[in-house]
This record gives sequence, structure tokens and C-alpha cells, in this order.
Amino acid sequence: MTELTNNGRDYSSVTVKFTKLFINGNFLDSVSGKTFETIDPRTGEVITRISEGTKEDIDIAVKAARHAFDFGPWPRLPPSERAKIMMKWAELIDENTEELAALDAIDAGKLYHMCKAVDIPTASNTLRYYAGAADKIHGEVLKMSGQFHAYTLMEPIGVVGHIIPWNFPTTMFFLKVSPSLAAGCTIILKPAEQTPLSALLYAHLAKLAGVPDGVINVVPGFGPTAGAAISSHMDIDKVSFTGSTEVGREIMEAAAKSNLKQVSLELGGKSPLIIFDDADIDKATDLALLGILFNKGEVCVSSARVFVQEGIYQEFEKKLVDKAKAWVVGDPFDPNSQQGPQVDKNQFEKVLSYIEHGKRQGATLLTGGKTLGNKGYYIQPTIFSNVKEDMLIAQDEIFGPVMALKKFKTIEEAIKSANNTRYGLAAGVVTKNIDTANTMSRSIRAGTIWINCYFAFGDDVPFGGYKMSGFGKDSGLDALYKYLQVKSVVTPVYNSPW
Ligand code: ADP
Repeated sequence: MTELTNNGRDYSSVTVKFTKLFINGNFLDSVSGKTFETIDPRTGEVITRISEGTKEDIDIAVKAARHAFDFGPWPRLPPSERAKIMMKWAELIDENTEELAALDAIDAGKLYHMCKAVDIPTASNTLRYYAGAADKIHGEVLKMSGQFHAYTLMEPIGVVGHIIPWNFPTTMFFLKVSPSLAAGCTIILKPAEQTPLSALLYAHLAKLAGVPDGVINVVPGFGPTAGAAISSHMDIDKVSFTGSTEVGREIMEAAAKSNLKQVSLELGGKSPLIIFDDADIDKATDLALLGILFNKGEVCVSSARVFVQEGIYQEFEKKLVDKAKAWVVGDPFDPNSQQGPQVDKNQFEKVLSYIEHGKRQGATLLTGGKTLGNKGYYIQPTIFSNVKEDMLIAQDEIFGPVMALKKFKTIEEAIKSANNTRYGLAAGVVTKNIDTANTMSRSIRAGTIWINCYFAFGDDVPFGGYKMSGFGKDSGLDALYKYLQVKSVVTPVYNSPW
């Protein structure tokens, strides 16, 4: 389906087929008729214009989703039938992998080969995982006391609003949609304004797979308008959000002020990677570099703070810097590229301003710090050492290829430093010592601890934050239960006295 140009690996002319809101099974203009630009971060040029959803469009989408939930077949289908449709959707995604990968690459500056090999196949597998769980949702039988007994029903929570960010347009879409769909919910999803393209193609494929009209609605638009209309809507039963901590706070507030809809939040991070003296230095430098440079550092769990024990620090630092200098930043369609452009001008400028802060506050710039090329939003892999823990570059989520490196002496000091953050999304520990690994994994207040690995995700592994990184898990059966609610049904065992 994708049009190839040049040497067979330039997908920059991929045809964008869907640019309108997807509501109740149809692609529609927005009520206002307004559109917004989506930009190619390789050049800063406009790819196309997308219908801009606002409150009125969210209202229409919620009506469709409400009707589909209250009267439509989806929540009432035998779960195995829901599963079949989800499996079919997964198949269609696999058949369109290249086109979907190209859309995420031009919209977000993500590496095309990575999207093709990882993001898209992982998404269809996430759908399959939850399709497999759909017919394993069940309650309990409870004995009570005396003459009553009870059973519980696990019912879908209802109409769900998903608000997702731009760094993983595909992964986020399916982390949210798959469990809610398996639970029997109906959905309004707002993709990030920077990356609406693949979400609209996913909606089209959902319809082809047989997802009934109104069950999935995709409304692109901006946060303060379309996003806020979701979080404050009186007829949405739950909002599931991934994005910044600041916006998460606004969403929770809007949910509380409207209908007390349930909220789950996957927010920012400033994850520590702690490397002990007994580590293999080559492997550890690779892990640290990947931890911060993967997806150009636009990852909520990136290893933005790296702590290295003093015995290997010098050698580690030298190897790390050499490898960072050899890291290939370039066009996301070039298979040799390891890092594409930042998603947009805002992020590009934000990252550069943090780099300036780092320099001004007295950290040592070991490598990088500059932009690359004369167009687009490319930034060099950047490493600071001598970082003090109260510096902005050690505390704020930069969301770019900027690492803060620090030396430590003892395990106690490492624990203290790792926890010296308002966030608690993830952490990595590199050591061959099982006692060190166990102590660290129990002492760090974060939702995921990776021992001798990093970025190791699984559909069955719950993912979510501690502290100001949010609450409520994506992935695993925990995510499925987020979209279910328990109803207790009580009945007399013997002849009722009433
Ligand atoms: P980032 O800082 O990574 O861009 P944001 O938290 O700003 O992340 O955005 C993540 C998602 O939240 C996007 O879809 C965005 O449009 C949406 N959003 C932004 N502001 C609001 C808001 N006030 N209410 C609801 N959604 C919002």
C-alpha cells in the first residue's frame, strides 16, 4: 500500500489517507470545520491538515460511544466473539505494518525500521494478548453468613476516554484501547496533536475488522479543548491518560469537578540507572546509552540519571563518551540511523534550553549539546557529568537525548540518590551480586525495576508509576481490571423471609 520513492527505502511520500475525525464508524469533518497542521520533524514542513476536534465533536463522539455501550452489541457479545474481532484487527495491522510504520516515522520522527520491527508488531500482539483474556473475566462466589450468599460480576466500566501522547503513537493507542475493548467498554480516544496520523488508520482497520460503529471513536485535537472536554465530560465513566505530570493534575481535577469519573495516570519520570563496580563495563555503557538515546530520549522511562560506582567510573565515562560520539543521528528512514529528530519545534527548543541550564548551573558537558543539520529538529547525544542533584537537569523530565551522569561510593548513597526525585516510574540496576540486586529492587520507589536490562516490556507485565509518576497500570491483567467494575449480587440461599 505504501508508495516507495528513490532507492526503495524512502517512504517520505507515504500517502496519508485519513485526515478526519472518526466518529460512529464514519470519517467526518469537525463541527467547526477547523483543521490543524501536522508537521514532519525531519524538515519542519507540513505533512497535511487534520480535522480539529473540539468540545462539540467530543460531545457527538460521547453520544455515539454511550449509545454503543448502553444499547449496542459490543458489551453484550460473548467475549469469544469480541476476541475474534480483535484478532482480525490484529491481522489487518500486521498486513499494513509498513504503511503504519511510515506514518509514525513521518509524524513523530521515529525510526522507521524500529517501528516496523517493534512498535507495530508489538501493538498487534498487545491486541492478541487482551483478546485472549476477554473470555477469562469472571467474578467470585461468596458464602456470606446465615441465609444469604453472593456472587460478583465483573462489568465493563462503560464509556472510556483515552488521552495519549506523541512519543509512541502506536504503542500508547494499543496499551489503552486493547484492554478496554476486551473488557467490553466503548471508547473515545484523543491522539496527541503532534501525531494523529496512525490513529486514524487504526480506526479504519478496526471498522474493517468488524468493530461495531460507535465502539471506537478517534477525535484528534488539542489538549485544552478536545482533551479537556474528555476529562470534564459528564457522560464518560473513566479517563485513562498518559502524558506530563502537569496535565495529569489538570485531568484529575477536571474529573473530580465533573462526574467523579475514575482516573488513571501514567505520567513523567526521571528514572535512575545504577551501575555497580562489578558490572561488565561494555554492556553497562551500551545499556546506559540505549536507556537515554532510544527514541531520541522521548521516553517516559528513559534512564536520564546514570549513577556509576567509583571503582569503574573513569573507564565507564570514557567508553560512554566514545560510544555517544559514534551514535548515528539521522533521517529516520535510513536503516543506519540510531536516532531521529525530536518530535517538534517546541520539544527541540525545550531540550536545548535544558542543555543551556546544565551548562549555566555548572555541570560538565562531556559530549554533544548542539543541534545537527540545517533543517529539522535533530540534537546530538548529550552527556553531562559533575551533575548536582538539585540541578534542573537532574530533577526535571527533559524528554530528550540528555544524560546526567554521577559517581557514587556506597549502596546507601545509590539508594538515596535514586529516590531523590518526585517521580517513580522505573529504575535500572546493573550488578552481578544478587544481594545488591535484591536490596536495590526493594529500596527504590518505582513501578518497574530492571535488573541487568532496560526497556524490557511484556504484555503480561504491569507498567505504571509510583509517586508523581501516576497510578493505575497499563499492561498485564491489572490494565484489564482498570476497565472493569465489581458488582455484588446477594440472594437468600433458602426460602426468602421477604
Ligand atoms: P507532552 O508534555 O508529552 O506533550 P502532554 O501532557 O502535554 O504531554 O500531552 C499529552 C496528551 O495530553 C496530548 O494528547 C495532549 O493533547 C493532551 N493534553 C494536553 N493538555 C491537556 C488538558 N488540559 N486536558 C486534557 N488533555 C490535555
